Amino acid sequence: MSRPIVALTFDDGPHPELTPRLLDILRQQGVRATFYVIGRNVETYPDIARRIVAEGHEIANHSWSHPALTSIGAGRLNSEIANTSQVIQRVTGRRPTNMRPPYGAINDRVRASILRDHGLDVIMWSVDPLDWKRPGAEVVRRRLVEGATPGGILLAHDIHPGTIEAMPGTIQDLKAKGYGFATVSQLLALQESKLAASSAQKPQPPVGNEGPASVQ
Ligand code: ZN
Repeated sequence: MSRPIVALTFDDGPHPELTPRLLDILRQQGVRATFYVIGRNVETYPDIARRIVAEGHEIANHSWSHPALTSIGAGRLNSEIANTSQVIQRVTGRRPTNMRPPYGAINDRVRASILRDHGLDVIMWSVDPLDWKRPGAEVVRRRLVEGATPGGILLAHDIHPGTIEAMPGTIQDLKAKGYGFATVSQLLALQESKLAASSAQKPQPPVGNEGPASVQ
């Protein structure tokens, strides 16, 4: 039986001090996460972006300068997305496959551009601990752990000290509840394979007379 999985995601970095601290914690805990990075921060801190990838995490697009994509014109929308994917690829050798729009601001026009023009999946979240309001590490930990559900995507930001402080306890609590951890792309692949498995089961007619299903 497979155990439930959540994806930890961290937005708005890389941050020069906090992202390396977070990477140390994730390495100690043996957990892989997804980093929604800001393009201009990748340009400023390329070594940290490379470390994210080198340590097995996923790096994904969170725009170049963090505008609400719904409030900018088509030209800037295109460059916010394209320049970020380009700098990630140039610095890390990895081409991102998905994007989280800043503030979660999305509409049909922005969604179509991300998907169609840039070939990126749009990823939101299932739990928001409002860590950007800096409610304290214990509150962030409790909100993330209580909000977690199988297949959930947990939102956090690696630019707030309390969020980093919350992580060892958050990860320990989630492990104690039986959760494993995956990157967003891994989670999507798992969900797709489950969907494929469940749709493959439906049209199967009974084959011969094999008696009751075997008990394993
Ligand atoms: Zn953000």
